[in-house]
Amino acid sequence: MDTTAKSAGSGRDQANTAILLKSFSGESWYRISLGNRTCSCSQFVTDHSCKHLNALGIYGAPRPFVPKTHPTFSQALSAMVKSIRLRRMEDAIYWLMYLDTFKEPESRFRTARRILIGSAEDGHSIAVMEKVADSFKRINKPHAGIEELATELVKICKVPNWWNPSTGGHDYIYHGMVAQRQLWQLRMERSTENFTNMLVQAIVEQDKAKVLTAAMGFSLEDSHS
Ligand SMILES: [Zn+2]
Repeated sequence: MDTTAKSAGSGRDQANTAILLKSFSGESWYRISLGNRTCSCSQFVTDHSCKHLNALGIYGAPRPFVPKTHPTFSQALSAMVKSIRLRRMEDAIYWLMYLDTFKEPESRFRTARRILIGSAEDGHSIAVMEKVADSFKRINKPHAGIEELATELVKICKVPNWWNPSTGGHDYIYHGMVAQRQLWQLRMERSTENFTNMLVQAIVEQDKAKVLTAAMGFSLEDSHS
């Protein structure tokens, strides 16, 4: 890529340092201020972000560090996610109660959304995923009772996660990886008909990897060719 950057300005202090970045498509140069995180291009004027800043890994304004004694909402949300992942039900409920002390309008939605994601993140129980997905319509509302969210947490934590040997998760992941490779090496037209035939054949042969190859294949059909 014909991208050239050069330093401009004489200040040694980063706040005063600017970079001139050549346009990705044309001959013009843009002036990027490292201290102010600004760019002189037209996209930045309207969006307050642009591809030039992104290319340099400069994202938004720096967030000030504020020392606090208690975890923030995001930190507590992260703690709840990790507790679910480890299937530590009581810890997860603790963090849920802590999250409930934040009364911003979007707090409940963010908590419920993470619970929904948690239902499918480390567990393979489709029954649990369906139940939580169904409850999500209720529990993401600001007025939803905290006990309703706790109920969903319990459903997730009561079923062991995929890496527990009792779930057969390793077998599933292994055959999924084999299936992925088979899909890459597939020498046939990626059509619904072909994948349907493959699925039927795989069930007859009780070939787990092939079943998953066919299942994944449906999302990769050559519809555009
Ligand atoms: Zn720009």
